[in-house]
Amino acid sequence: MLPLPFTFDRPTTAAAAIAAIGGSDDGMFYSGGTELLLAMKMRVIHTDRLVDIKGIPGLDRIVLNGSNEVEIGSRCVHRMIAKDPVIGEHVPALSALCANVANVRVRSVGTIGGNLCFGEPHADPPTLLAALNARLVLQGPDGTRSVDVDDFIRSELETVREPDELLTTIVFPRPTGPVTYRRFKHGERPSVNVGMAWSMSGDGMIKSARVRVGALGSRPQPLRAVEAALAGRAIADVRTAIEAVLVDALNELEVNADRHGGADYKRHLAGVLLLRNAEEAMTYKEASR
Ligand SMILES: Cc1cc2nc3c(=O)[nH]c(=O)nc-3n(C[C@H](O)[C@H](O)[C@H](O)COP(=O)(O)OP(=O)(O)OC[C@H]3O[C@@H](n4cnc5c(N)ncnc54)[C@H](O)[C@@H]3O)c2cc1C
Repeated sequence: MLPLPFTFDRPTTAAAAIAAIGGSDDGMFYSGGTELLLAMKMRVIHTDRLVDIKGIPGLDRIVLNGSNEVEIGSRCVHRMIAKDPVIGEHVPALSALCANVANVRVRSVGTIGGNLCFGEPHADPPTLLAALNARLVLQGPDGTRSVDVDDFIRSELETVREPDELLTTIVFPRPTGPVTYRRFKHGERPSVNVGMAWSMSGDGMIKSARVRVGALGSRPQPLRAVEAALAGRAIADVRTAIEAVLVDALNELEVNADRHGGADYKRHLAGVLLLRNAEEAMTYKEASR
């Protein structure tokens, strides 16, 4: 099927792109088009105006900024993030994640911003970015605002972003401990995934931990009981600490049974992936002592 007719703009500034959406009934930003064009051809999405953001300079850079935070431009394609030296040095788990998203064609044109803004629950980046405590910088007609990744996805395919807000940057503190990510998938997209980030104190204890489970409900969910159990622990006690609270923690997750599996099966997978994350985090710590 062909999409219904629409107009097409190619602005060269963020302000012009935002104004173009604001001046249309239901215009949409167009980045790599890997989700959008498929949905338009299937006529699941219709828009009267596509605003191509590829010509806006500065949206595809990755830097460690002066506040010791990693900044990733929303127009960075998965392949670029996978190969970027800053990401490779400070967050190798994100390099590996982006190297394994989708297929080579999607990795070459699909962007991290498009992945986040589409709000697809079976996605990889939101889970790890939430574990990294990332925030998203949105530029709109009245200025910019930041939204934590944890709060960005409202429900399936729906985010808190207004139609004329452009996601410009993803920002998170440079990790100060192991960051790990595991996923399990049957088909193209993850059925369950788990991201984890620890910050360490000088004496080799875990100061705090962020653990997120994705693809089960509409957005990544925290495993608060596991986070509390890990805080203040010595590395050697991690497995025991997790196992003591795991069943109750998993039972608190919102889980949609779907073609990826039933709720009990997915909870079980989440537990397995979490323990594999923990094993890797422990190895990383030992290796870097
Ligand atoms: C075959 C296939 C397999 C896939 N497998 C995986 C997988 O294993 N794991 C995974 O995580 N993902 C997977 N994906 C999803 C993939 O990551 C996304 O398609 C891609 O990242 C979307 O980026 P895009 O630039 O093409 O977005 P587009 O299709 O251009 O846009 C998607 C949506 O985001 C909006 N948008 C885009 N950029 C911005 C911005 N900067 N500001 C505001 N709004 C914006 C658009 O208006 C649109 O609503 C897969 C996709 C396909 C087609």
